[in-house]
Amino acid sequence: MNRMVPAHTTLLPDKWGYDCVTEFCRIWGPEDAPVSRVFLYMFIVMISPECAPVAKVGGLGDVVQGLSRELAIRGHAVEIILPKYDCMRYDRISGLTKCHSDLWVSYYNHWVHCDVYFGVVDGLNCFFIDSHSPPNFFNRGVFYGHPDDRERFAFFCRAALEFMLKANKHPDIIHCHDWQTALIPVLLYEMYQHLGMTHPRVCYTLHNVGHQGIYGEQILRQVGLNPGHLMTHDRLLDDHHKAANLMKGGIVYSNFVTTVSPRYAHEIRHTPLGMGLQRILSVHHQKVGGVLNGIDYNVWNPAVDCHIAKRFSIETVQDKYVNKEALRERLWLRKEFKPLVAFVGRLDHQKGVELIFRAIPHCLSHGCQFVLLGSSPHGNVNDAFWRLKRHFNDHPDCHLEIGYDEELSHLIYAGADMLLVPSEYEPCGLTQLIGLKYGTIPIVRNTGGLADTVVDADYAPKPYHERNGYGFNDYNWAGLESALRRAIGLWYSHPQYFRELMVNGMRYDYSWNHPGQHYLNIYNNIKAP
Ligand code: ADP
Repeated sequence: MNRMVPAHTTLLPDKWGYDCVTEFCRIWGPEDAPVSRVFLYMFIVMISPECAPVAKVGGLGDVVQGLSRELAIRGHAVEIILPKYDCMRYDRISGLTKCHSDLWVSYYNHWVHCDVYFGVVDGLNCFFIDSHSPPNFFNRGVFYGHPDDRERFAFFCRAALEFMLKANKHPDIIHCHDWQTALIPVLLYEMYQHLGMTHPRVCYTLHNVGHQGIYGEQILRQVGLNPGHLMTHDRLLDDHHKAANLMKGGIVYSNFVTTVSPRYAHEIRHTPLGMGLQRILSVHHQKVGGVLNGIDYNVWNPAVDCHIAKRFSIETVQDKYVNKEALRERLWLRKEFKPLVAFVGRLDHQKGVELIFRAIPHCLSHGCQFVLLGSSPHGNVNDAFWRLKRHFNDHPDCHLEIGYDEELSHLIYAGADMLLVPSEYEPCGLTQLIGLKYGTIPIVRNTGGLADTVVDADYAPKPYHERNGYGFNDYNWAGLESALRRAIGLWYSHPQYFRELMVNGMRYDYSWNHPGQHYLNIYNNIKAP
């Protein structure tokens, strides 16, 4: 009956053992994958707080959509379980219908009634959990940002498992994401396997360890777990606070832990970027690895993109400039012989907001135009950017769009010449991958996935044809300023080299093809016999 692996052991036989990321990539590369494993079809359930395009705040939504599609294209049965938020893009769900109306989920000492809806998102089968909880967990007008977020998502974890149990779903793999779904493996191992869910194994992906879900132990009682048993340093007790750390629990209890780039996997284990999780990641190093995210080339591809003014590819790269003109027209920027620098993303401290703030006037005074699309959950950051926006209101070379606009983001990637990603830390980063595909030169800080994907035009120890952008090492203005100077200088002085750099970037394959295979190798090795 008890076929779940003990949380502290690894399922992997010694010959598959590894403790460093390079080894991970070498052993688990598609070429080395045992052929018989590759062709076993699996039933995979993604449990996630986000999935693009219906519920997307950032890269997590893109990853769940892109990876799921890749797995489905390869013939695997994939289902996604999400909360039924009131603020979802309902126009992107087809055939939404109630499929379960009698789901009762334990919440402290009583039961909460839930309905489950089924709908298809971009060809993917999705289940949406609608809770009729008194605090109205998923009808808040926003995805995150409430003081009870941890209770909301702890409830979601219990509800997702309860739904799977009642619907008799026994997937080979449950793949869960970030702190919001970290309680899934804990609940599965401590509770649901004893109720009959002995088959599924859990792959848990850390998209950002900057948010771990640290909360008082009552969060465990809320979902029916016994804190006395779990609040120890080798399980959920946080190493620095007297509180439950949900992400730590996810790491301890899942069968395999991935993070979203090899560099970030190294950083969170060996540097302060682990934000307190270094020790537990070291204890479990044999089941931890970094798999670089991909992007979905059906969505992010200038050759097929329906949101841009003119489609283009490497062969027709000059058509990119039709998009530059369209972007200028849409945002009331003047048509001048100038490079256009852009930023798209959450205006979070992690993203280097101070540097972005400084880069805008700098670019304007150094012969560039600047476009920003972003918003922040932090009032003071939003206010600062609103002030800057008012300051540059009538500037013919600057447009700051404070908000979230999926369609506009496509036109910005297509129309800009350079894309700024000066993050303080960056687990993977998708914007630079999108920029590369659209021939938009990324200017990035060398950290996490940015360092894994952007190859500096001047200093990289790689051949010229592999260079694709600009990087700087230290998180400070001098670093960014020098990278900007080199990029702007090349645009003005050596347009031919600039164009070569664009094409080099467009040639890279950052689709889900390789990461999809890596994940399948992982699933194959952890799934129950
Ligand atoms: P993170 O997940 O940390 O937010 P990523 O670079 O991994 O950052 O992914 C960001 C994704 O969210 C990209 O697809 C980007 O285009 C999108 N995005 C971020 N902010 C906005 C916005 N304000 N409007 C439209 N898309 C956005």
